Amino acid sequence: MLPAPSESPLSRTPSLYVVATPLGNLQDLGLRALAVLKAVDAVAAEDTRHSQRLLDAFGIATKLVALHEHNEQSAVGQVIRLLEAGQHVALVTDAGTPAVSDPGARAVARVQEAGFPVVPVPGPCAAVTALSASGLADGAFHFHGFLPVKSAARRAALEALRGVPGTLVFYEAPHRIAECLDDLAAVLEVGRQIVVARELTKLFEQIVRMPLADAPAWLAADPNRARGEFVLLVSAAPPAEGLSPEAERVLGLLLAELPVKQAAKLAAAITGASKNALYERALALRDTAL
Ligand code: SAM
Repeated sequence: MLPAPSESPLSRTPSLYVVATPLGNLQDLGLRALAVLKAVDAVAAEDTRHSQRLLDAFGIATKLVALHEHNEQSAVGQVIRLLEAGQHVALVTDAGTPAVSDPGARAVARVQEAGFPVVPVPGPCAAVTALSASGLADGAFHFHGFLPVKSAARRAALEALRGVPGTLVFYEAPHRIAECLDDLAAVLEVGRQIVVARELTKLFEQIVRMPLADAPAWLAADPNRARGEFVLLVSAAPPAEGLSPEAERVLGLLLAELPVKQAAKLAAAITGASKNALYERALALRDTAL
């Protein structure tokens, strides 16, 4: 049931409110987020100058406390002291849902350890926003966030994700988008699709789908395409060639109990599928699970 407009959006116990804020379009700030940001005693923010503009836009006078990765230890200590003094504190980051690929996660854990309630106030999240408009959301997805910065480590991380049964979701920054697309195209199978979701909810929002192999050339064709913030979504790995859904299912069941070679051999005997194809698939599935 909705609270009456005059009712406080805060609970009785001093709490940390994890408040999602817009990715770009200010109209995406939720009504409950607005009420909580107004009602709390302090807002802990990743970048106080950035968040001050958000508070100003909505006429919110709540004081801001800096909580970024460089002062996190001491700033979380300050947040805990405010809670101990009976105050309510909101946590925001630069955009989207705090603790999703940003410094909020450790603050949340420390406040929980200190014994205070942590209350989520949901709203925008770049990954879910991109997924919702990608046309790839039909089934499981694996949110990975940022890949490693160095190419060798990035390729190794992608190798481990090759067989994940679902859409892969990544975050990427503009200065690494070209090398990231190169590595995605090189490591993940040809035949998969990619959706590049750029500048979501902003003026130059762009959501484009193409074969993964075409992505590096698409980016290079226009320097504007490398600008802004990115979510990259790669469609699920196609089933191994020649393997029916039934062979995949049987192999998956056997692999949960048996070594790769034995699982492939038995799956071939049960389903009639190629032992080699099953063995290759079993190796890929085992690598993903490691
Ligand atoms: N906590 C945030 C969330 O809920 O999505 C993510 C924080 S993470 C530090 C920032 C990354 O999110 C960016 O590098 C980009 O990959 C993605 N992102 C944030 N805003 C975006 C936008 N408007 N369009 C596309 N991607 C965005």
